[in-house]
Amino acid sequence: MPAAVSAMSSIPTAQETRTVMLIVTNADVLVTMDAARREIPGGALVAEGPAIAWVGPTAELPEAYRRRMDDGSAQVLDMRGHVVIPGLVNTHHHMYQSLTRAVPAAQDAELFAWLNGLYLLWSHLTPEMIRVSTSTAMAELMLSGCTTTSDHLYLYPNGARLDDSIEAAARMGMRFHAARGSMSVGRAKGGLPPDSVVEDEAAILADSQRLIEQYHDDSRHAMLRIVLAPCSPFSVSRDLMRESAVLARHYGVSLHTHLAENDNDVAYSREAFGLTPAQYAEDLGWVGHDVWHAHCVKLDEEGIALFARTGTGVAHCPCSNMRLASGIAPVRAMRDAGVPVGLGVDGSASNDGAHMLGEVRQAMLLQRVGYGPAAMSAREALEIATLGGARVLNRDDIGALAPGMSADFVAFDMSAVGYAGAGHDPVAALVFCTPGKVATSVINGRVVVRAGELLTASLPQVLVRHRELARELFEAAR
Ligand SMILES: [Zn+2]
Repeated sequence: MPAAVSAMSSIPTAQETRTVMLIVTNADVLVTMDAARREIPGGALVAEGPAIAWVGPTAELPEAYRRRMDDGSAQVLDMRGHVVIPGLVNTHHHMYQSLTRAVPAAQDAELFAWLNGLYLLWSHLTPEMIRVSTSTAMAELMLSGCTTTSDHLYLYPNGARLDDSIEAAARMGMRFHAARGSMSVGRAKGGLPPDSVVEDEAAILADSQRLIEQYHDDSRHAMLRIVLAPCSPFSVSRDLMRESAVLARHYGVSLHTHLAENDNDVAYSREAFGLTPAQYAEDLGWVGHDVWHAHCVKLDEEGIALFARTGTGVAHCPCSNMRLASGIAPVRAMRDAGVPVGLGVDGSASNDGAHMLGEVRQAMLLQRVGYGPAAMSAREALEIATLGGARVLNRDDIGALAPGMSADFVAFDMSAVGYAGAGHDPVAALVFCTPGKVATSVINGRVVVRAGELLTASLPQVLVRHRELARELFEAAR
């Protein structure tokens, strides 16, 4: 057998893994996030195809599964020395921004000035840049514990399409909620973005419908769903918000946008529409369990009550909120009121480090800065990043490890230096200590990271091209 072929054969194809049984044994702790929030010492898990078939202590693993281990017909992952948790869910990102990290002109600005410093640069994006930056962003997320992600792409210059992101996600093997973003109100009409990056509203709606019909999968364990996501109240019209909601509800897809991100955003809403952001969302029909809004840093009491009453979700992005000095989102109050809250790393130009477990840590720490040391525990932060994210994305098949749920889980090696001395509570250690890289990641029953290495792509090759394209983008905008 030629060397290249034998090297490839250790990486199972999607088709092979669908039929393979995967058995996890001996996890130091297996965090289930099930209804009883069980944390199982010496935990085991059995996945058949895309779904979990059994979860419990390794000592109680049923005989039928033991036989499959003995006869070699199951793939076995011995997780001794590791903590296994449900895969983290990222509910807000702009992956193309991985090409524009730490841009000098946008390093020390608040939201509107930050956007104005970057729009021109982004207008030079190409389809390949979308594909490569999406692959890079997904690799970073996967290595940091994320198994399901949304991405909000709202610029389509030079022939770029949402299909470019979708193609990258399929190659990387991530569970993906692709949000068809849009901007239609440029500066000439009183919006924030330059006119060169906005689209015609009829074209936006037609492309949205095409994407839903071509790609949206509403089945259990779906790897790809489409979301309609006009960018923000200050870059699209009332009509586009309303029409998008009508279209989304006709097809049963979710809605997503940015809302109440900072004081200027609230001021724009009051001035342009005579309403608070929450009132505006309600007026547009943008509330319900099929809607989630990014940030909501300045969501007021009335807004929190509205979101709780309607099941409207929030993507909390603590690093981005700190980076842009937007403020501290009232997550404690939201959770107490019953608002569904998930976590998002946000785009890589406003959170230059898209580490999903790191975001969990920052969520916990930032609530404490705002509301005291008991404002959020490590376990609650983990719950927000798993069950919370699943609810925000309107899914009941991810976020927990239990029979019938999708086989999405990650393992962290507790022998890493960052966890030294925290063995008395390894679950809390994941959140309190320096965020580590995953040792193993399984998405939809398929091993996508093993021994800390990404199996679905050659990361060094992706990064070489990513560096070239980032340089090209800067040259083009000169
Ligand atoms: Zn955003």
